[in-house]
Amino acid sequence: MRAIRRFTVRPVLPVELAPLGELAANLRWSWHPPTQALFAEIDDERWASVGHDPIRLLGEVPATRWDELAADESYVARVHDVRADLASYLTGERWYQRASAAAPDETWPASIAYFSPEFGITAVLPQYSGGLGILAGDHLKAASDLGAPIVGVGLLYRHGYFKQALSREAWQVESYPVLDPDGLPISLLHEEDGSRATISMRMPGGPDLLARIWVASVGRVPLLLLDTDFEENPEPYRLVTDRLYGGNTEHRLRQELLLGVGGVRALRAFSRITGAPTPEVFHTNEGHAGFLGVERIRELTTGEQGAGGLDFATALEVGRTSTVFTTHTPVPAGIDRFPRTLVEQYLGDQGATPGVPVDLVLGLGAEDYEGGDPGVFNMAVMGFRLAQRANGVSQLHGHVSRGMFNGLWPAFDEAEVPITSITNGVHAPTWVAPEVVGLATAQGADADGDDAEAFWAAFDKVPGREVWSTKRALRERLVADARRRLRRSWEKRGAAPAELAWIDDALDPDVLTIGFARRVPSYKRLTLMLRDPVRLKALLLHPERPVQLVVAGKAHPADEGGKRLIQELVRFADAEDVRHRIVFLPNYDIALALPLYPGCDVWLNNPLRPYEACGTSGMKAALNGGLNLSILDGWWDEWYEPEFGWPIPSADGLEDYSDKRDDLEAAALYDLIENEVAPRFYDVDGEGVPVRWVEMLRHTWAQLGPKVLATRMVRDYIAKLYAPAAAYSRLLAETPDGARDLAAWKARVRSAWGDVRVEHVEAAGIGDTVEVGAGLVVHAYVALGELAPDDVEVQLVHGRVDAEDDLVDTAVAPLRIVESYDGGRHRFDGDLELGRPGPFGYTVRVVPRHPLLVAPAELGVVALA
Ligand SMILES: *Cc1c(COP(=O)(O)O)cnc(C)c1O
Repeated sequence: MRAIRRFTVRPVLPVELAPLGELAANLRWSWHPPTQALFAEIDDERWASVGHDPIRLLGEVPATRWDELAADESYVARVHDVRADLASYLTGERWYQRASAAAPDETWPASIAYFSPEFGITAVLPQYSGGLGILAGDHLKAASDLGAPIVGVGLLYRHGYFKQALSREAWQVESYPVLDPDGLPISLLHEEDGSRATISMRMPGGPDLLARIWVASVGRVPLLLLDTDFEENPEPYRLVTDRLYGGNTEHRLRQELLLGVGGVRALRAFSRITGAPTPEVFHTNEGHAGFLGVERIRELTTGEQGAGGLDFATALEVGRTSTVFTTHTPVPAGIDRFPRTLVEQYLGDQGATPGVPVDLVLGLGAEDYEGGDPGVFNMAVMGFRLAQRANGVSQLHGHVSRGMFNGLWPAFDEAEVPITSITNGVHAPTWVAPEVVGLATAQGADADGDDAEAFWAAFDKVPGREVWSTKRALRERLVADARRRLRRSWEKRGAAPAELAWIDDALDPDVLTIGFARRVPSYKRLTLMLRDPVRLKALLLHPERPVQLVVAGKAHPADEGGKRLIQELVRFADAEDVRHRIVFLPNYDIALALPLYPGCDVWLNNPLRPYEACGTSGMKAALNGGLNLSILDGWWDEWYEPEFGWPIPSADGLEDYSDKRDDLEAAALYDLIENEVAPRFYDVDGEGVPVRWVEMLRHTWAQLGPKVLATRMVRDYIAKLYAPAAAYSRLLAETPDGARDLAAWKARVRSAWGDVRVEHVEAAGIGDTVEVGAGLVVHAYVALGELAPDDVEVQLVHGRVDAEDDLVDTAVAPLRIVESYDGGRHRFDGDLELGRPGPFGYTVRVVPRHPLLVAPAELGVVALA
């Protein structure tokens, strides 16, 4: 029999233990071991059997156990201590408050809204599919630890992402367990009168779509999650938030409209009800939430927000100034695109953002550049047009993104495309095993201080023997977890218990352990390690220096190719002669990941360069005393040093997905493991400690540790993007017509640009032979038409020249106005000392200039000599 309705009855705790309810309701427990210890102490076995889910645990503990605990003074005292610690964490001053007080002249935004289609915060709130969601979760947690005033905005999916199991034939089988929101660590937002807070959004040809708003408390950070699955919505609308990345194109458009448009409305409701400050900066994590910019234009044009009744162009300027867009994929196929006609239907007169002209919205997502498809609406393109500041997620990815989106700024070289980069990071308190943190705190380091360098440097003082015994304990824990998972998986695959005795000896806590876990899109090359099965087998079964591999990863449910790769890998791992040395663990998620990273000695990553935008799993491994063995892609390309691990040479020049490239890179991988990695791991002193290896771990902790932190990442976002965005928005708001003037200025510059020309350039001071130290004097005669000299910057662009006379490694020196003539013509002068020998070249160009532009390329126009 199926229930027609389900709900979860929340328990009533003894009054002495009531704070446990508060501790369970704030997700800070998920990165706070002392809180976890309190839950474990209630009932260790049950804590494991409920999957470390405090809400479920509290609901299942029998009354007799509560009575015992309530009578245990020491336990009650600890509960109250941890609750007091949470209260001080939530309300006390943290880095953001200290840093902003120390720099009163800088702009520190009062609030930042962070939109993402997925958030991976804990295994018990499965609202993520992979790296993007984990990153968003780590962003919120690090913001909370820093005291940065961020509010997250996302959707609550009834099914979360799928669970992966294997069939007997090693084929991926998906299931979508239903989540009961009442059993999740979230609570509904209510109006002051006690009624449920909802937002609504117009839908073409139907009633309005409604959403209720759940709030998850991620430490100090509220995360608003919109949910359409409740009685007031008609049946088809209830399915809008049914599952993450599920359904057809129209379904996804509905989800993205709800996230962007509905998300802004939810934020407004949240501020109205709770008094939370209005966000000054809006951050779009990947293109999916981009419609938030359209909703903000609607608010500003209708006068619901701001000074009232702006025109579209002015509202666009206000919105852009305060919006940050992060792009995450270097793969063009990974970009979200919709049929233009569908967007027209959903954003037309009867659509989600009434009053915003649909043709102007369509223009924002139009691929109106060379090679673009006129029939599609591109969410990344809209993202760039609606955000004045944009970034990729590693230096290499920034470079790739500038190339990939150069079409939006065709007049400029790739280097000047206004997309910067901020390299991702990971939230150490979530991902680092408490035993590893303990090694540093035993040396007096402060895990909760502002000085990350000092904390990670403390590992230099930890004796090698302690490092090594801790690593062994972590390996042992991983082995135990892997065996448990293997057994469960084989039972599901239909094996009889008698067939499974071998699992007791699968993996070995003293063998060099290599981890490989990630989603399974083809560029990540799950099966590269199988390229030469004979060689791999020899490495696994080496008589003195064996290695063992722990592999995990989900293929997208629609990706048959990915499922075939998993099958190939599992079939290899099923073979009797190697199954004790290579295992595939189904259902890669946070719960699997937590013991996996600390238990590995080496983290393997072999994507096709440069398709890994950043990658973060190798960072988590590094913080846990792991060395990276990776293609130089993403973050590893940026920060690799010989003391942190090994780069796998990448055959970049060869075609992607070619056999030749895979052969070369796989052979390099085997060579490295055989000749470098394994010999070093097994080179131990009299006490069994691999001295050289441990030295590498210490270097990794001390030098790499502080870089890969999510707190470093969030501080970078604040310094490079959030604070400047807030400063510009305040400047715009300072004068009554600031935004209107800026919009009008842009319109004037664009329409007059056709008459802007560099007419003539004279150079003095140089003859045929020039020596270092010579001065170059330049006079440039330019026509500006209707524009004034103040509207532009005339620049001397200079640098090395290559064989084709193209300028490379350029620098820019502004020229100054010296004289104006009739007919909008002007002379600009400048000089330059030639500082270095070699081929040198220069040119002169004119670009728009305004104090509120972030880059010369922003308007996309330039006039070259
Ligand atoms: C860290 C993590 C990821 C992302 O790892 P990448 O290196 O970016 O592929 C994905 N899933 C889980 C469960 C993770 O913990």
